[in-house]
Amino acid sequence: MDVLRVDDQLTDEERMIRDTVRAFTAERVAPHVAGWFEEGTFPARELAPELGKLGLLGMHLEGYGCAGASAVAYGVACRELEAADSGLRSFVSVQGSLAMAAIHRYGSEAQKNEWLPRMAAGEAIGCFGLTEPDRGSDPGDMRTRARRDGSDWILTGAKMWITNGSVADVAVVWARTDEGVRGFLVPAGTPGFTASDIHRKLSLRASVTSELVLDDVRLPADAVLPDVTGLKGPLGCLSEARYGILWGAVGAGRSCYEAAVEYARTREQFGRPIGGFQLTQEKLAWMEVALGQAGLVALHVGRLKDGSGVTPQQVSFGKLANVRAALDVARQARTILGANGITLEYPVLRHMNNLESVLTYEGTQEIHTLVLGQAITGIAAYR
Ligand SMILES: Cc1cc2nc3c(=O)[nH]c(=O)nc-3n(C[C@H](O)[C@H](O)[C@H](O)COP(=O)(O)OP(=O)(O)OC[C@H]3O[C@@H](n4cnc5c(N)ncnc54)[C@H](O)[C@@H]3O)c2cc1C
Repeated sequence: MDVLRVDDQLTDEERMIRDTVRAFTAERVAPHVAGWFEEGTFPARELAPELGKLGLLGMHLEGYGCAGASAVAYGVACRELEAADSGLRSFVSVQGSLAMAAIHRYGSEAQKNEWLPRMAAGEAIGCFGLTEPDRGSDPGDMRTRARRDGSDWILTGAKMWITNGSVADVAVVWARTDEGVRGFLVPAGTPGFTASDIHRKLSLRASVTSELVLDDVRLPADAVLPDVTGLKGPLGCLSEARYGILWGAVGAGRSCYEAAVEYARTREQFGRPIGGFQLTQEKLAWMEVALGQAGLVALHVGRLKDGSGVTPQQVSFGKLANVRAALDVARQARTILGANGITLEYPVLRHMNNLESVLTYEGTQEIHTLVLGQAITGIAAYR
């Protein structure tokens, strides 16, 4: 069904990673994920060591037990994980591209040695706290504060919508200080630090999403990430994670497309398969085109990242284009499945609901539009 045969452009190693992740999700995730979604659970503790064994946690990072894979290999893995469920890819993205990447980029040698090998193995889980109840798209105006008390730091504030929050062993928390925004490593169980889950979600139900409360949390001097000050710290990590999303969205879209093709071939109305009607074929052809284009964008951005480097604007382009494409594919696929399309018997509405979160997190579609708008016109239109 891949008319453009985008995967022919992958190296043997990248194809091997694709097949390994596909086999893993087929065995360990696909049979259970509708149930997890229905129950609103994600077995993070159980899956983390298995994902670690496959080298998928911090996969693109070098050293400290990380696999040191190429950007394209990491992207292909994200695509296959998200074909199973966006919650699974979110877990891997937050662990590797946000929490581990923050420690890897900005941490001290002691912090790296303490956390990265265990996180790469899936023995320790991380989360990344940037968003706040009242500050999402504008994190520069965050309210969480860190003040010095002797050599210690005292953190006060709240973080909202934090993936992996209540299952994390360590939270990377971004807070305003007198010097600018700084990152702090807050181990679970630190007095004054609590994480409670957000319930009644209709999207990313197979993913843990939490609120973090920091009530005068006292941290030692060495809890701060020493190598970055300012918003460029969290934004640098977000660009890494967005890169995974622009691949992952292709996987979620592909899963919906495959379900629609299979359904169109077998479902009969008016005495013939619905795939024999021109209106259905128009939808399927459009999905094929949309996903082929999204796959090419992902591969192009990935090859740039492995080669001369990628700009935040290129990542915004990919995130905006590919999540939108995947969501449109999911919506079209849903119509082909008729009433069956609204159930958990098929992956389509689950993906569609998940993609609503993916459209919003790591920069909303509006914010990525403004990033491109600024790149095009030279005029910033955020405020
Ligand atoms: C399931 C899930 C998991 C998440 N995981 C994490 C996580 O692990 N860590 C973390 O830190 N955050 C996480 N987030 C938070 C996410 O990054 C934010 O939701 C996102 O940045 C948007 O912030 P907001 O929801 O506060 O929306 P707001 O910023 O309040 O935006 C609301 C609307 O206004 C629009 N808007 C805002 N500013 C402008 C503007 N200047 N011009 C035009 N339109 C504008 C937005 O695009 C949006 O449509 C998660 C969110 C979800 C849903």
